[in-house]
Amino acid sequence: MITDLQSGELPAELSTDVCIIGAGPAGISMALELTEGQLADGQRDVVLLESGGEDYDVRTQALYEGPNIGRDYYPLRHDRIRYFGGTSHHWGGWCVPLVPGDLDFRDWVPDSGWPISWAELERFYPRAQELCELDRPDYDPYAWLEPRFPLLPLNGELLEHYLYKWSPADQNRPPTHFGRVYRDRLAAAERLNVVLHANVTDFECNDAVDHVDTAVVRSLDGNELRVKAKVFVVAAGGLENPRLLLAANGQNPAGLGNDRDLVGRYFMEHLEGVLGHILIDDTDAARWLASYEKRIPEGERLDISAAIRPTFGFQEERQILNAGLVLRSQVDQNSGYVSAKRLALSLKGEGQSNYASDIANVLTDLDEVALWIHHRRAGTNYEFPVTKEPVKIWVNSEQAPNPDSRVMLTDERDELGMPRIALDWRVGAIEKKTLIDSAELLSGEVARLTGMRVELAEWLVDGSDIMPTSEIYGGHHHMGTTRMSDSPQTGVVDSDCRVFGLDNLYIAGSSVFPTGGYANPTLTLVALAVRLAGHIDTRLRADV
Ligand SMILES: Cc1cc2nc3c(=O)[nH]c(=O)nc-3n(C[C@H](O)[C@H](O)[C@H](O)COP(=O)(O)OP(=O)(O)OC[C@H]3O[C@@H](n4cnc5c(N)ncnc54)[C@H](O)[C@@H]3O)c2cc1C
Repeated sequence: MITDLQSGELPAELSTDVCIIGAGPAGISMALELTEGQLADGQRDVVLLESGGEDYDVRTQALYEGPNIGRDYYPLRHDRIRYFGGTSHHWGGWCVPLVPGDLDFRDWVPDSGWPISWAELERFYPRAQELCELDRPDYDPYAWLEPRFPLLPLNGELLEHYLYKWSPADQNRPPTHFGRVYRDRLAAAERLNVVLHANVTDFECNDAVDHVDTAVVRSLDGNELRVKAKVFVVAAGGLENPRLLLAANGQNPAGLGNDRDLVGRYFMEHLEGVLGHILIDDTDAARWLASYEKRIPEGERLDISAAIRPTFGFQEERQILNAGLVLRSQVDQNSGYVSAKRLALSLKGEGQSNYASDIANVLTDLDEVALWIHHRRAGTNYEFPVTKEPVKIWVNSEQAPNPDSRVMLTDERDELGMPRIALDWRVGAIEKKTLIDSAELLSGEVARLTGMRVELAEWLVDGSDIMPTSEIYGGHHHMGTTRMSDSPQTGVVDSDCRVFGLDNLYIAGSSVFPTGGYANPTLTLVALAVRLAGHIDTRLRADV
């Protein structure tokens, strides 16, 4: 069922088996796992507490306000969304799993290495795939691309192909919005109570502060609720998870799980931007690049695209990080039909358009827009034109864990009296080296295989460590702030995602990633949420 703290009809206290805080992809995936399917016979009572309602509202969103005090970053108020469904209201739907090497300890990357194996994580991707609506589970580009789209025969010792999938979006809907897609199932789940307008502001623990007794919950209009549970899961997003632990400092001044001052540290992003352009002067060579465009393969319902990354052999030789390299003709974002799609979605309130530039693109590209409409009506796929415009090399690159890159509490308070956070995002020299070496490697291979020349961005080859914030920015991925580790000396949660020092407090979300790899985080954080649901189920069955 779905209830609302603002209604004033809830009792002052709820008791449950599992209390999940936050109804974004992580929290919703856990709630579904525990109340539907294989785990449902555990007969668990679950309360899912969500700060927002079913729609965006400015007052709730303002609870996310906070300053950036490090590298330029997006306003924290806008870089996540605070209502039912969480930031999946805003995401791009890019999905790809991590690869085995991403979890390994790499001696040239301090604090790298996950405490769980690839085999352990891999088991949960198929279910995460389903939850993100990604259809067939494989990520081999050759299994998705039609033969008429050949890939460059890259030197496999240095570079390898991988596949991006986009959770399905079309003119009627954005990529999987967890709130909208799963609303009815959550409402129908017998032993689940989703409480809206329910902001967790504090936790009360036992005297030893090693067990959470109660989540203290408030609505913006002053209603209060106390939730008692056997197990608590904080799933409030990569910036808010550390905030909740740090702000719960009434019994332990350091906050929860923070005896070693690690909560909020190691904030990581993915570095995104354009590294250069492939200059096209020959249509035959350009046809190769058409294979890397985003497209919906025949008979499928989601977009895919092939992309390229340096092998771990190359990363080790150059002592660099992982990096996804995406090739895109200019047609991608600025073409008339992409703009027309974006406008249509935005007018329905389901996406965001920059109206001025989108309308200009539609007007200057009417032939493409007409083609797109024709194909939509006919139910056939629209093929991207082979372009002779320069092709962008776009990057989605890993960051090294750095304890000085961090989220911390400030003296300012939000409307509920909770301390606001500040983000001090840091980027170092290894990140720039990763971009330079990956771009140069790809340029060499493109020139060798197609004869096409690559022009790298000036800032990339200027010999400095500087990465202009106008050129290289974050991917809106908030990772590492409650990192997973084998030891409380080096992490906040253990390999089960349980906060060290507290026997019933768990974290779900990308804040537990010890390193971020090259992959957009949501598919992996959903896989970890599914894994955590299984762990909690096993634990509660053993407790009985
Ligand atoms: C513009 C943009 C594009 C993106 N594109 C992609 C992409 O293409 N691919 C990808 O993998 N990822 C992408 N992401 C990241 C993706 O959105 C996040 O990884 C994902 O939403 C995180 O899920 P989550 O459940 O951990 O957190 P969230 O989605 O942030 O959900 C957290 C939930 O907790 C609630 N909450 C917060 N505080 C409290 C509290 N105190 N009490 C109760 N509830 C609370 C919030 O209201 C929210 O519903 C993008 C993000 C942005 C901003």
